[in-house]
Amino acid sequence: MSDQPILIDGSWGEGGGQILRTSLALAGATGQSVRVTGIRSGRPKPGLRPQHLAAVQAAVAVCDGQVRGDRIGSQELTFVPGRPQSGRFHFDIGTAGSTVLVAQTILPVLLAAEGRSEITITGGTHNPLAPCFEYLRDVFAVLASAANVQAYFELTRAGFYPTGGGCLHMAVQGLGSTEMISPVQFVSRGELKHIDGVSAASACLPAHVIERQTRQAIALLAAAGHRATLEEAAFPDAGPGTVVFLRAVFTRTVAGFFALGALGKPAERVATEAAEALLAFVDSSGAIDPFAADQLLTLAALASGPSRLATQKITDHLLTNAEVIRRLTGRTVTIAGEVGDSGMVTVEAI
Ligand code: ATP
Repeated sequence: MSDQPILIDGSWGEGGGQILRTSLALAGATGQSVRVTGIRSGRPKPGLRPQHLAAVQAAVAVCDGQVRGDRIGSQELTFVPGRPQSGRFHFDIGTAGSTVLVAQTILPVLLAAEGRSEITITGGTHNPLAPCFEYLRDVFAVLASAANVQAYFELTRAGFYPTGGGCLHMAVQGLGSTEMISPVQFVSRGELKHIDGVSAASACLPAHVIERQTRQAIALLAAAGHRATLEEAAFPDAGPGTVVFLRAVFTRTVAGFFALGALGKPAERVATEAAEALLAFVDSSGAIDPFAADQLLTLAALASGPSRLATQKITDHLLTNAEVIRRLTGRTVTIAGEVGDSGMVTVEAI
């Protein structure tokens, strides 16, 4: 690995926090230093927000690294990783920022370490524009297990955005080296086996909210010819909020979609949003959903063999993550298709 940091332009492409998180993950797992400039420069509140700063601090902690530029609002960060190390760590975002995104940042680093790690992260567990806890556990972790990732996630306490206060627990078995991460091949999904999910709300909301979400989701799926099983949960102390998460389980892959409640948004609409997204996936030919595509790509970037992912939709997040991976690892990543259409992502062997 070069001592010279590789330069990453944080304003490129989608220009969001994902560029920073992927840079931290790959740098921490490989030992390659990185300097990210223009971090979230086009966003209304540019630079590091608490969720991004927590991801930086977590990445530094799990590889005993060094960092410059680690403060709120900073648009430039230099990260010099040390050796990946397992252990018990606790990270507090301090706001309702996504605990899931922080967990996904450090996962590749912990995989590169020897031994088992136990991590707790406090903050938001159900945020807009980030994977919700159920997506992490029931979609991401299931797909990632094909990459030899043994990671277990538990929702110790839910925390809806913008109140937060949630707690995510992650246990990860280190593999000792990124070479032990297996390449992933999700090129077809096989037969639809079943649809399941979660209809949940904060315990401070009336119980009928959860029931109405469930009824609507089941009715919409039934109208399309699918039976679904939904688990219902009332989350204590989660801040006001609701979620409907739906997952389609195929013989070779899984895909998931969720929607969050909001003040004045009927419970039925929350369920409709999640069900329509899931049904659109079922009607498509994608092997994995668009979110899994960009999230799995970071693991595929570390596996030594070639990976192939057939995504329902090519997104700006996917193109941006692919570019960060090319620059940081020197690997060839090709994406066949246009933004908004289905496509095939290929990561060539090292
Ligand atoms: P920003 O810098 O724009 O404030 P951010 O740091 O919060 O953003 P992004 O850069 O937008 O985050 O990355 C969001 C991540 O969350 C992506 O990996 C994306 O796939 C994932 N994501 C977003 N929505 C969903 C969803 N509905 N289900 C699963 N994953 C999602």
